[in-house]
Amino acid sequence: MPELRCDLHTHSTNSDGVLTPSELVRKAAAAGIDCLALSDHDTTSGVREAEEDAGLCGIQVIPAVELSCGEDGETHILGYGDRPDATPLLRLFEKRKQDRIERFYQMAGKLKALGFPLDEEAILHTAGESVGRPHLARALVSAGYFQDTTEVFDRLLGNDRPAYVPQDLLHVEDALLILTASGFVPILAHPSLLPDTEDSLLRKIDAWLERGLAGIEVYHPANGEKQGFSYYRKISEDRRLLITGGSDYHDDQSHAPLGSTADAWFSAKEDVAALRENIQKLNERL
Ligand SMILES: [Zn+2]
Ligand SMILES: [Zn+2]
Repeated sequence: MPELRCDLHTHSTNSDGVLTPSELVRKAAAAGIDCLALSDHDTTSGVREAEEDAGLCGIQVIPAVELSCGEDGETHILGYGDRPDATPLLRLFEKRKQDRIERFYQMAGKLKALGFPLDEEAILHTAGESVGRPHLARALVSAGYFQDTTEVFDRLLGNDRPAYVPQDLLHVEDALLILTASGFVPILAHPSLLPDTEDSLLRKIDAWLERGLAGIEVYHPANGEKQGFSYYRKISEDRRLLITGGSDYHDDQSHAPLGSTADAWFSAKEDVAALRENIQKLNERL
């Protein structure tokens, strides 16, 4: 059993998870987690609530965020820090929110022109901050135009289909800059989910290291299923990188259970101490 049981990758209702930050902290405490990071997509808005509850439950919380970068948002960069309201981060979140809403209206306009009008305001109202293609697809199914969302993506909303509008890309290099400028230590999330070959992944990692990448999420369920934790651990150790891990918990069905990688992460105590030291150093320089 590791000296410290950590889950440094989780999502709440503030992005696409099903538990509120407070419910998530309570569930983590009940599952015997000592140290939790709330790493919602493109927002740190749940961190303060999580910290308050963590104090009551007697567990530690590290503020975090997960940014989707690159083509189709496929490269995810996690950031760990101590100022969830840092200005460069808040500016980025606001811009991404506006971009998503603008793209939503463009796609809804195309759907209308193709003969599929929808109640745009009603969809936006229920979707909240992170409106996207799934919300339009579900609305088209509810309106009776299609059998299921797969059909909608095949016919209309999939990449290069007639109602598709590409997303504004966040480049990994820009994400690294913004995180570092906010005092957040950037870590490459779930490397096994990237479409790269082994060689191209290593080339990418080495290029990102030059731009401020500080570590790799070694203990992620997907890594365990593919090459295995020790494969990614070696890549990190060879480059003297920070090592993190977490379940990527969203809900009890679609992803791994909360805390599911905690028992495999034997060096968590040392790795988290190194992460905290890096956060502190980064913030001293700001
Ligand atoms: Zn991710
Ligand atoms: Zn995630």
